[in-house]
Amino acid sequence: MRQDQRIAFRKRFAFRCGYCGVRERDVGAELTIDHFQPGSKGGAHEPENWVYCCHACNEFKGDYW
Ligand SMILES: [Zn+2]
Repeated sequence: MRQDQRIAFRKRFAFRCGYCGVRERDVGAELTIDHFQPGSKGGAHEPENWVYCCHACNEFKGDYW
């Protein structure tokens, strides 16, 4: 992902985790990008299928959909 795309993506989620709502400022770092529908489950590698989320939520969710 290009830097400007990444920034636009973060803005779309208001710099917060799409699942639990924790802010980048609270975590002290950028969050991760999760595939809402995992690629292994046929999820598209498209921005529409991405959710900005924190490490905790990303790990918790894993491949579960
Ligand atoms: Zn979270």
